[in-house]
Amino acid sequence: MRYLPVFLDLTAGPVLLLGAGELAHAKLRVLASAGARIRWYATGGHHDVSGLGGDAARIELAQGDPLQADLSGVIAVVCAGAGNLGVAMSLRARSLGLPVNVMDDLDHSTFIFPAIVDRGDVVVAIGTGGTSPVVARRLREKIEALLPARVGDLASFIGERRKSINARIAEMPLRRRFWERVIDGPIGALVLSGRKAEAEAALDGIDNPSAYAGANEQGLSRGHVTLVGAGPGDPDLLTVKGLRALQDADVVFYDELVTSEILDRIRRDAARMPVGRRVGKPGIGQDAVNKLLIEAARAGKRAVRLKGGDAYVFGRGGEEIDALRAAGVNYTIVPGITAGLGAAAQFEVPLTFRSKALRITFLTAHKERDAEAVDWSALTDTKMTVVVYMGMTAAPSVRAGLLAAGRSPKTPVGVFAKVTRADAQAAVGTLDQLPELVGRIEGGPAILIIGDVVAHSAPWRRQNLSQTLAQLLEPA
Ligand code: SAH
Repeated sequence: MRYLPVFLDLTAGPVLLLGAGELAHAKLRVLASAGARIRWYATGGHHDVSGLGGDAARIELAQGDPLQADLSGVIAVVCAGAGNLGVAMSLRARSLGLPVNVMDDLDHSTFIFPAIVDRGDVVVAIGTGGTSPVVARRLREKIEALLPARVGDLASFIGERRKSINARIAEMPLRRRFWERVIDGPIGALVLSGRKAEAEAALDGIDNPSAYAGANEQGLSRGHVTLVGAGPGDPDLLTVKGLRALQDADVVFYDELVTSEILDRIRRDAARMPVGRRVGKPGIGQDAVNKLLIEAARAGKRAVRLKGGDAYVFGRGGEEIDALRAAGVNYTIVPGITAGLGAAAQFEVPLTFRSKALRITFLTAHKERDAEAVDWSALTDTKMTVVVYMGMTAAPSVRAGLLAAGRSPKTPVGVFAKVTRADAQAAVGTLDQLPELVGRIEGGPAILIIGDVVAHSAPWRRQNLSQTLAQLLEPA
């Protein structure tokens, strides 16, 4: 983030506008719509305020040299279609520490205008750091389509009643929940459909706002734990439900595998607690994690337990849910995309293939010990795709086990690391080469996929192509 979006109160003082033509007019309109008082130096010679209606009354038509003008009390300077005069004005504004924008000139601007979705009290500002107004406009179209037309009315409806209701609910989290119920429930729907009087009557009809917010006898809301699968790394692979849980959370307990891009999607005010294990370093321990989840729920919090991939695939989700159930805590489970599926999609490995690959086995070979405990003889079926989690260090035993059980050394295998992240990596070859393939990977987490379907993968096809090319180019 190069620029911080903030919302300026433009009624506080005059904004100085310098410029002419349609560009200056566009700025006049946007400034006026925010209630600004505007002091306009028309560089084109004449002030044209047609089409500005009542807003024109707040525009002071300034005369003389703007570079000599008294800038005391001015809160910002905007130059649009002002040519070199705009640049000179920018230098002057900056020397006085005044925020200045010169249209389409980042070098001479200390603030920039976002693309705006304006729904009254609800305003969405979209910025691209000045890099691409077209991207901002496209996003604006999407957001325009997404927002209910009367969302601004909903905000002001709540704004007018917030103080009086909040005075009747002591706890902060309950207040938040009260308004969430209002917004998501029938009262919000009434406002959004323009039936404000009915909404008002419904809100006035709530005798006990704390109870409406879901409080129990002790005045606490019922806590809840949501177990969310974060997917393998790409934040766009979070489910809509998972994202909603992150946006509603009071506290999020997350694992080491969860990427910072996903953590960025957590509600800003939620507390975040890393509870993960790192390879070679102990975490806080499963019992301690269970205890934290139970305590959070008992304190009336909405807790999210965020795990890489899917919580029920080598994620110890089962143990956590057992503990929550035993403690009588409410919970919900939101699935995530497990690493194996992320790797399959990214590197084009069809895990099943008609008549060629009919079964999939997901197994873990965390330590040599686990790998030794695997019954490899059950995995020799050539129509079975084997997906190995936590198999990097155990790769030599995976290879040895499968070969000893009789799977062909020529079986295609792939090592897929940091899948769906920007720095994802793949190495493909044969089962015989597995440890060497692992050696080509720069860092985990990585997953192994073993089976004929790996020969369909994009890296395999690329590798074959380059081998064929090399053979063709070799001197006879
Ligand atoms: N619950 C997770 C798995 C946790 S076990 C899931 O469903 O994906 C940890 C192992 O998952 C790692 O050792 C690695 O084998 C695999 N893994 C997790 N994220 C991965 C990623 N982004 N790329 C490749 N493998 C990953």
